[in-house]
Amino acid sequence: MPKAASNLKAGLSKSSPDPLLPADREESALTVRLKQYLKPQDIAQVWGAYRYAFAAHDGIVRKTGEPYITHPVSVACILADLHLDVPTILAALLHDVVEDTDITTLDIKEKFGSQVADLVDGVTKLDKIEFQSASQAQAENFRKMLLAMSQDVRVILVKLADRLHNMQTLEAMRPEKQKLIAKETLDIYAPIANRLGLNEIYQSLEDLSFKYLYPMRYNAISKAIMVARGNRKEVISKILESIKQQLKAFNIEADISGREKNLYSIYKKMTSKATPFSQVYDIYGFRVVVKDMANCYLALGALHGLYKPIPSKFKDYIAIPKANGYQSLHTTLFGPFGTPIEVQIRSADMHNIADAGVAAHWLYKASDAQLTALQQQTHQWLQRLLDIQSESADSLDFLEHLKIDLFPDEVYVFTPKGKIMALPRRATAVDFAYAVHSDIGNCCVAVRINQELAPLRTELRNGDHVEIITGSMAKPNPAWLNYVITGRARAHIRHFLKSQQSTESAHLGERMLNQALRALHIEPKQITEAHWQKLIRDYGIKTKAEILSDIGLGKRQNVMVAHQLVAMTDNHLEKHTKLPTASLDTITIRGTEGMAVQFAPCCRPIPGDPILGFINKDKGLVIHTHDCPSVRKFKLDPDKWLDVEWEPESTHLFKTNLNLTVANQPGMLAKIAAGIADADSNIDNVSVEESDGSAYANLYFTVQVKNRVHLADLMRGLRKIPDVVRINRTKGNLHRRGTEK
Ligand code: MN
Repeated sequence: MPKAASNLKAGLSKSSPDPLLPADREESALTVRLKQYLKPQDIAQVWGAYRYAFAAHDGIVRKTGEPYITHPVSVACILADLHLDVPTILAALLHDVVEDTDITTLDIKEKFGSQVADLVDGVTKLDKIEFQSASQAQAENFRKMLLAMSQDVRVILVKLADRLHNMQTLEAMRPEKQKLIAKETLDIYAPIANRLGLNEIYQSLEDLSFKYLYPMRYNAISKAIMVARGNRKEVISKILESIKQQLKAFNIEADISGREKNLYSIYKKMTSKATPFSQVYDIYGFRVVVKDMANCYLALGALHGLYKPIPSKFKDYIAIPKANGYQSLHTTLFGPFGTPIEVQIRSADMHNIADAGVAAHWLYKASDAQLTALQQQTHQWLQRLLDIQSESADSLDFLEHLKIDLFPDEVYVFTPKGKIMALPRRATAVDFAYAVHSDIGNCCVAVRINQELAPLRTELRNGDHVEIITGSMAKPNPAWLNYVITGRARAHIRHFLKSQQSTESAHLGERMLNQALRALHIEPKQITEAHWQKLIRDYGIKTKAEILSDIGLGKRQNVMVAHQLVAMTDNHLEKHTKLPTASLDTITIRGTEGMAVQFAPCCRPIPGDPILGFINKDKGLVIHTHDCPSVRKFKLDPDKWLDVEWEPESTHLFKTNLNLTVANQPGMLAKIAAGIADADSNIDNVSVEESDGSAYANLYFTVQVKNRVHLADLMRGLRKIPDVVRINRTKGNLHRRGTEK
């Protein structure tokens, strides 16, 4: 693993072999790396993919002037350093083929199998989403979106290696382009590499970004480091020697190396603590790699005996590992001449994980039972990150099923302005609309997802571009409550429906009150604002609308409120006596009252039917026919009844129930449906009685008609259909009825 680590810094140290050498040669950079861990037949497979990619990109030249194939080969080299499996290496070689040539994912699948095709497809998809906004919160969402879209952790590994090589060859780009790519790398890809524990890639991405974003500062610091290195060389080698001696004296076997901090982390330290470079002493650190965990603490004790530690600088990441699984002991010592020395002490296992993070798991072909405690801890971290579909103990299988589901509870989508929104998983377009703004939610009529119209109930997927279409007259639909999943959308829809209902109830309540006032020979306009204010005070409530809505909902009696208002007017004394005998005008029903007036589903009254209104506390005014069986039950409570009549000119359609007995033959339903359509009626609901092999069947329809005349026409038409035996309108409790709407 340490070998891998040094090669990854290729962009800085230029230690990689010639990438121009064809990769299907024994001595090529890629093959040399692959030979360390792959069998000859695997390498032959890689060569096959190389030739395929070579032919696909043939004749294309990179901005650097090199043939295009050098890029995928370099990406494959970075991943080979991490000892990644064959499908990942193949995907690395083929990663730009679908994007840049005529070759399709299907071609890849036929030639290299579906696993490689899926990986290439995953990388291609990531390439297509663009990061637009620069804010911190947006960067975090974008990182999550990338990870959520990757699905397979190997996709993000290929993507990171791709980005690393592009950063290493950024010199060829225009300066503005360099800065853009460097900024994106620093904001998005370096933190992902860090979170996945890919330390070397993370630091290289940071340093390269720093170099292109702040060339002056980068140069100044790297020069200062060179100078410091020269000055301190002697001191450093002296310290190194003392440490070696001390550990030897304590019988601790250790691998000790001098380590230089990465440039960007020195820069961050200088800016965050406002320290000049001359005071950033710990640009040098020492790394002590020992056999196991027990030896870590022994080594720590030995070193604390050699030089005095700075008390506040000790950190035990073995007992409390970092979130990405990193483990080590960190201590800073007062060296000779007062030089602070940072020392990291870790076991060989911890070292592997610190260097390669997720990728370290590919290095161990041991079964889960043989995993060390440390590996298991990292494994646990991974399991939090990854949704492993199979419970198999075989590590190769583990690899096969290594699917990322880092954020199983969330989905990330784009707004039309390129902003990323995080929504709960299974959120629909309506949830999205309300998340943007309650006004958008309340007025949404349709949605365009990735430029295509889709139903509002469509569940959103990661990376979707969502555009809500609104209508100025549109209103929330109660049916939305069946599928929205965010509390915000639910609350707004409920609030709207409730306020709409109370507006409708207040409207009805006003008509009922005016009717009661007229019965008392008072014109509504004689009631002044002052009267209302007094009534509002007396009732201890807030608004006139509330009183009216209460009347409409049956919570207050119109006659009582009218009486109280009349009592406040000047002429109440003479009118008062008339109150008990005054009869009320009737209220007219239009069918357009909305939720304030409901038509009882038992009898389904239609214009022409004699009707009664029953005031229900929850539902408002419910209209029944005079002869409805359920009316009899309530007749005992005449206070709740209201005289109502139909508005004569209504053209509204009303629902009513029909029961047909027909000969049990195929095609009957269609004939009747046609008959209903011929009469200009609509079917609202239909149910068919289970056929029990008898000669006749019962059909139950809910149809829409204007009035009784219309219904009579409809029934006459249906009777003419041969094999319709009996037809009648049904009221009251049916033995069977279609579900109510
Ligand atoms: Mn690429």
